[in-house]
Amino acid sequence: MKLLSFVIPAYNEAQNLPVLHERITAIDWPALGFEIEIIIVDDHSTDGTPALLTGIRERDPRVKWLRFSRNFGSHVALAAGIEHARGDVISLLAADLQDPPEIVPALLERWQAGGLIIWAARDKVEGVSFSNRIFSRLYYRMMRWFALPQMPKEGADFLIFDRCVANALNQARERNTSILALIQWLGFQQEFVPYTKQSRATGRSKWTLSKKIKLVIDSLVGFSYAPIRLMSGLGVSIAMLGLLYAAILFVLRFVYLKPVEGWTSLICVVLVTSGIQLLMLGVLGEYLWRNFDETRGRPRYIVESRVGITELPPS
Ligand code: UDP
Ligand code: MG
Repeated sequence: MKLLSFVIPAYNEAQNLPVLHERITAIDWPALGFEIEIIIVDDHSTDGTPALLTGIRERDPRVKWLRFSRNFGSHVALAAGIEHARGDVISLLAADLQDPPEIVPALLERWQAGGLIIWAARDKVEGVSFSNRIFSRLYYRMMRWFALPQMPKEGADFLIFDRCVANALNQARERNTSILALIQWLGFQQEFVPYTKQSRATGRSKWTLSKKIKLVIDSLVGFSYAPIRLMSGLGVSIAMLGLLYAAILFVLRFVYLKPVEGWTSLICVVLVTSGIQLLMLGVLGEYLWRNFDETRGRPRYIVESRVGITELPPS
């Protein structure tokens, strides 16, 4: 028997967790050659999730959980769950039933055939608003261009991976990152099995606009130096444009003997260049802030309580 760990981040998912538990346990794992553990990382829910989990655990001791001292975000929750998982193979899963656990046996077949990282790649996404779909498309397109060319086009956040991948991930102790981009970055042989991402069972998406913006900048800054390149590129281009403009003015003044109009052109140039300079300072700031945040060396997350999970040795 191999051990399969489910790692499930949950933020106010009390309505979905019992159904998810039922759907996971309805699958005949021993027949497939697996024992399971279900690790739920409660990202400081305020909807009675701990009491609910206590109830589920009374019936099924394979369910264990960590509770964070505050909301740290789903990527940190995933990283914490992976650190505490003991499985030979690990499955990341959302608590809202968008990713059907019934797909996992098909992914496990690929693992048994020697695959190390097997993504369930979206071929269709159901029940997502137009603006969210555009946002998600743009995000994955940008990541493919600037950072990780092998990123699936429609995106992916549901996968299983081998113990050796978990060990590699546990060595990366980054704070402001996308754990999914990090898995892509690790390398190994990555396989893709298509599935349809379903609509959320109940409740609303826990990703606010500001969390999304943070993730976009984290992903870009963490995996690409394109923004820094862009700064240098823009600097050079604007300087060239300035020189060209100066040359034109010079010819107008001394060859065609025309008076040069000053204020309007000057103010345009000042506004454009100072705007770009501020933007570029902002880009530098994003890198600098992350650097500072890493060097402070605070823990990535703080566990308020744990049930069924032993404390990790300090690292
Ligand atoms: N989640 C979390 N902390 C957060 C936001 C989300 O643990 O701050 C969990 C959430 O409960 C869910 C998973 O991360 O299990 C994916 O989040 P969600 O379904 O809200 O995101 P979406 O599917 O809209 O991208
Ligand atoms: Mg979801």
